[in-house]
Order: sequence, then C-alpha cells, then structure tokens
Amino acid sequence: MESKKKIVILGGGYGGVHAAKHLYKHFKKNKDIEITLIDRNPYHTLMTELHEIAGSRTEPEAVQISFKKIFSSRSVNVVIDDIDAIDFENQILKSAHKEYPYDFLLLGTGGSPEFFGTEGVQANSYTLWSLEDAIRIRENVELRFRDAAKEPNPEIRKKFLTFVIAGAGFTGIELAGELLDRAEVLCPKYHIDRNDVRIMIVEAKDSVLPILPHDLRKKAENYLRKRGAEVLLNAPITKAEEDKVFLASGSIIETSTFIWTCGIQGGEFTARIGLTKGRASNDKCSIASPEGIHGMAGCHFDEDERYVVGERGRILVTEYMQSVDHRNVYLAGDMIWFLHEEKIVPQIVETAIQSATCAAKNIVADIEKKPRVSFNPKYHGFMVSIGAKYGVAHGMGLSLSGFMAIAAKHAINLHYLFEVAGFNACWAYVQEEFTNVKDRRTITRGHASAKIPAYWSLPARLWLGLMWAIEGVNKIGEGWFNFTGGSKSGWMFSSGVKQASLEATAPTTAVDAASAASEYGEAAAAATPTPTPEAVYDAASAASDAGYANAGDVATSAVSTVTDNQPWSFNLDAPIMPTDFFLVTWFRQLFMDGIMSYIPYQLFQMAIVGTEIAIGLALMGGLMTFGAAAASIGMCLVFTLSGMFTWSQLWFVFMAIVLLGGSGHVLGLDHWVMPWLKKFWNSTKIAQKLYLYDGEPRLGKKNRK
Ligand SMILES: Cc1cc2nc3c(=O)[nH]c(=O)nc-3n(C[C@H](O)[C@H](O)[C@H](O)COP(=O)(O)OP(=O)(O)OC[C@H]3O[C@@H](n4cnc5c(N)ncnc54)[C@H](O)[C@@H]3O)c2cc1C
Repeated sequence: MESKKKIVILGGGYGGVHAAKHLYKHFKKNKDIEITLIDRNPYHTLMTELHEIAGSRTEPEAVQISFKKIFSSRSVNVVIDDIDAIDFENQILKSAHKEYPYDFLLLGTGGSPEFFGTEGVQANSYTLWSLEDAIRIRENVELRFRDAAKEPNPEIRKKFLTFVIAGAGFTGIELAGELLDRAEVLCPKYHIDRNDVRIMIVEAKDSVLPILPHDLRKKAENYLRKRGAEVLLNAPITKAEEDKVFLASGSIIETSTFIWTCGIQGGEFTARIGLTKGRASNDKCSIASPEGIHGMAGCHFDEDERYVVGERGRILVTEYMQSVDHRNVYLAGDMIWFLHEEKIVPQIVETAIQSATCAAKNIVADIEKKPRVSFNPKYHGFMVSIGAKYGVAHGMGLSLSGFMAIAAKHAINLHYLFEVAGFNACWAYVQEEFTNVKDRRTITRGHASAKIPAYWSLPARLWLGLMWAIEGVNKIGEGWFNFTGGSKSGWMFSSGVKQASLEATAPTTAVDAASAASEYGEAAAAATPTPTPEAVYDAASAASDAGYANAGDVATSAVSTVTDNQPWSFNLDAPIMPTDFFLVTWFRQLFMDGIMSYIPYQLFQMAIVGTEIAIGLALMGGLMTFGAAAASIGMCLVFTLSGMFTWSQLWFVFMAIVLLGGSGHVLGLDHWVMPWLKKFWNSTKIAQKLYLYDGEPRLGKKNRK
C-alpha cells in the first residue's frame, strides 16, 4: 500500500496559516494527503499588532490565536516544536527531540531584525519582532516610570524617562504612537510631569514613513510632534553602548530604553539552512544560484532600499515560490527574496499571504501533475496607527488620516481575522480593541468600554421577568386558553383573514367592533362624546376578546382621532407603529396573513402565552438570561410590528438590552448552567467548523495532541 504524501509547513505565521488553510480546503476529501504545520509556539502571532502590546493598549492574548482554534475540526496536524535543522537530501526536519519527514516542504519562518552591523546596537537595544519582545518593552516602560518616580538624581531620572525609537518605518511610528498614549496613563500614575518624558524617533532618512505619499508623511510627522514626540530626521545612528546612543552628528542621547526597528532580514533560521540566498551587491544583478538568474530581468537597485547581503539574507525563490535548490521545497513570506517590478518584494502581510497561496497552489499542482502558477503580487496599501485614535492610510488611490484611517485599519484587521478563525476571532478582537480596552485607548474614546457591574442589573432582571410572567398569566385569566370564545389574537391579522380552526368571520368596521365592545359592557367610555384613548382601547380590546379580528385597527385609528383632538399632549399609550404604517401592513400581510394563519389559532395563542411565561420564569431564575432577554426583545418587536406596542411599554426593550450582558450570572442559574453549556457547545463539530465556539474549542480525544 502506498503511504500518505506528507506536506509539512514550517512556521504558522501569516504565510504558513494561509498555506495550511488552502491545502486543507483542497485536500480535505483526499485521505492520501497528510498536512502538518509546525511552529515553536502554540499560537499564530498577529505581528502587526505587537506595538499595541508593547504600549500596553491591549493584553498579550490579543495577538495570539491558538492553532487549536484555527484548525479545530480540520484535518491539519499541528505540532509545537522548534526546528533546528533541515536535511534536504533525506527530506527530514529536525528538532532537538524529534524528526519530521516530508514529501513537500513549505517554509514560512519569517524574518528577524536587521542591525546593519551597527556597532553595539544588537547588544544594547530592544527589538519588536515577537510577542516576547513586545512584553519586554511593555514591562521595561512601566519599570522606567516606576524607577524615575523614586530617583532623586535628575540626570539618572532623565535617562529613565527618555525613550528612543530608532527607525521611522511603520513599526517605529506605530510604537511611538503607543508610547505617547502610554505616557498619558503612566505620568499621573507615577506623579511625573509629562514634560519630563522624552519620546524620540531617530531616523536616518529625511522623512517618516517613506512608504506613504508625501502629504501623509507630513500629517503623521505633525501629529507626532503635536503629541510631544521629538522627531529627528537625517540622523543616522552610528553606535550604541549601554544607556547611550551615538548619532552621526556627534550628539549622544542618554537613555535606558533604546528600541531598534530599522530593518528586517531573513530570519536567524534562514541563515542556518543551506538554501541559496538572494543577493544584491554593488555588482548589479549578480545572484548566485545553481539555476542562474531569477526574477532579475532589467533589474536596477534603488539606493534607498535596504537590501540584505550575505549569509543571513532572504532565500531566493523562483516565480513559483520554489527554492532554486530543491524542487519539493517552497517558501513564503518575510523569508523570500524575489524581484517584482524591479524591486525586492516588501516584507509585509500581503506578500506573506499571496506568496503562501501561490506556493500552496504549486504544491497542489505538483501532486496533481498540473501546470504551476506564477507569483504576481498585488498590493493594496498601507495603514499605520499612531496611537489608538489617529492614523494615516494610503491604498487604492485613497489617502486617509485620523479617524477614518484607524477605522479602515480595524476593518482590514477584522477581515483578516474572519478569514483565519471566523466569528470567534473577530469577536475576540472587538472585545480587546473596543469593549474591554483600558484607559479609553480606543477609537470610540472609551464609550464602548465603560462597564456596569452585573449585580446592578439584578432588580431589572427580576422585575422584567415578573412583568412577562404576569402578562402571560393575565392572558390566561382573559380566556386565552378558553377556545370556545374564538380567537384572542385576531388583532394581529388582517380583517377577513381566517385563522386555522377559526370558524367565525370577523367584522370589518369600527362600528362592528364598537358595538361588540359595548355588548360586553366595557365600551362605556367609547360611547361618550369625548372619549379618552384608554377608553377606546378598552373598548377595542373587549371587541378583540369577542373575536373580532380587526379590533386592533379600530383601536389605533380611534386613538389617533382622539389624540388629534388634544394637540399639546403626547399620548404614550398610542402604538409606536399605527396599524396603517407600511411596516405593520407588510408584516401583517407577509407573516400573519401568510404563514401564521395556517397555524391553528389555539396553538398560536398558547404559544404566545407560553412564551411570555417562559421568558418571565427564565429571567426571574436567571436561566439562559441572554436568550430570554433576546426573546423578550423579539416579542416586543413582533408586537410593535402588529401595531399594538405602545410607547409606554418600550421600557421592556431597554431593560432586556441591559440584561444581555450576563445578568444571569448574579444570583441566577446561569452561574452554573452557562459554563456547562459552553463546554458542551465548544465541543460540537458545528461550533468548531463555523468558528462559533466561545473562547477556545474543546477538542475530542482524537484531536488532542
Ligand atoms: C510591530 C510590527 C508591525 C507590523 N505592521 C505591519 C503592517 O501594518 N502591515 C503589514 O503588512 N505588515 C506589518 N508587519 C510585518 C508583518 O508582520 C510580516 O511581514 C509578517 O508577519 C510576515 O509573515 P510570515 O508568515 O512570513 O512570518 P511570521 O508572521 O513572522 O511567522 C513566522 C512563524 O514561524 C515560526 N518559526 C520561525 N522559525 C521557526 C522554527 N525554527 N521552528 C518552528 N517555528 C518557527 C514563528 O514562531 C512564527 O510563528 C509588522 C511587523 C511588526 C513586527
């Protein structure tokens, strides 16, 4: 028996995850293909949001999406291991403890910071290229404020409060924005004057964010300066020592926090594996490769571009994202060296995703012996946040700044997260970025993150529950279960519509309704020369009790006639939507006269009464409160669309909204039931397939590794 073909993806970054998802989709029915993704971490890191962790805007969990989540119920083996070496001849990946054979290998191990050989920089700086890096910066910043608060020596204190960021690319600028926001929080916390804090951006070129058009660069620079950052342009760094940064101009900056964000090279791992690197040198277009020159037609080099030369460079790939050394090895993301339109492709997410998709397609093509596809990247633009509330963005011919740029960045992030782990990842993002964020550091300026303790909603829950229960019980008292009197729910249907099992034909005029009401002796008010709205309603409801289907219509028009005669009073007992309102007509004709009229009226009435009592009991007992509150809102909506829900009853809806936020966990059964339900739901296939689980999925024994 032929053994399975093994596709191994090394690196679960932007490239690796997309490749794995693409391959899974293609081969999910093919039992002869085994897909394995290996990463040193159990989670996919959202590298583009690391600055938020470094600046303490969001928590470290915000940038980790566990592979368990991404691949739950999908036949992709996830292995957590750190690969040390690759034996390309024997097709084996090796870690300290284990070996992993492959037939096809896709490498997406990313990049790492480039120091350009600048003396002392690597040893004396922080970098921002992993979650661990971000946490180190985060902790150091807080520590420096704490140290400064108790430091009597002004020189040392100044050093503690000076933060130097080298590089004004998107990583450096995004980090500076976060530190500016962070200073606003830490200064009052440690009783430090904001003017004592220096946040410096030191850049060798003459502008910030060279990837953006000139006007946006200027806007970004102006905003940074306005917020109190010092932006030093044309200021190459020549050397670093402990607590000292040396500039080419001869000046020395003393700082305890020096963060280097100046460039990316192929990762440390790429330096170790023996694949041909891309190479740009003074000798234009010279690339060493066993197969000659790749992607270099008519090439020239922009002096401003930072190319990586030598052993730690990026790995040369063909237009198929294939290594030039081994036919069954493909590469993607920050580690590739490929020229597109005479420029080396940028180390950004779009390159990672598109190159990985191309590589995955070509692995499929090799296995199925079909033609390969070439890499043809399409870039849509850049979005840079400068703190939580401002940003600049350029793409698809549009330049945005401020709120719109940040909003666009959030939208793009949500789109990416939806692709990776569906609704679950999007909801986690919304919580991290909007509803749980601290210190108002969000685009909504904290309006979405203010919280009310759940125990304050307890009286509202009990009261709303009681009201629903009473409403239901009252209906029983009014004879809703006594079917000999005909339909009680006729007000929801058009006059003349025959509900299933209803024999009586309904009268059609107000006169009929009113006379029916008076028959029951409850329409005295309606008969008076100046009837009140309440009296007319009483009459109409009596008519309704008597089985007249158009009693609601009668009530509404009568009430508006009465109210029209009282120009300065707003009648809270008038319906929110009158029966002749187009939405009410639409609802009645489509749902009530259509689908609902086929349901025997007895069943329909029992369902209304039963639902009201069930909502009431659930709310009072705090059982499935979210569902009961949502049903409460749903019922009110149905009554509104039936033309019978009045302004004075609207509090039902607002109270139910308050209860949606977990009210049942306070002195309610949800405290015990919900964790159990969550566990059960998270273990279901449907929740896992559609990414609808809450928190982390619960994998069966088979999938637990
Ligand atoms: C602060 C910051 C902000 C950024 N902002 C943007 C932005 O706004 N827009 C944009 O497009 N790009 C941005 N980038 C760049 C972007 O993050 C990278 O281009 C992207 O992450 C590259 O994806 P990748 O799949 O090649 O590698 P990565 O995402 O780096 O993933 C590599 C994976 O390989 C794993 N790995 C590496 N070596 C091994 C090994 N030996 N064994 C096992 N596992 C291994 C790692 O754990 C990691 O999960 C930003 C980067 C940073 C740091």
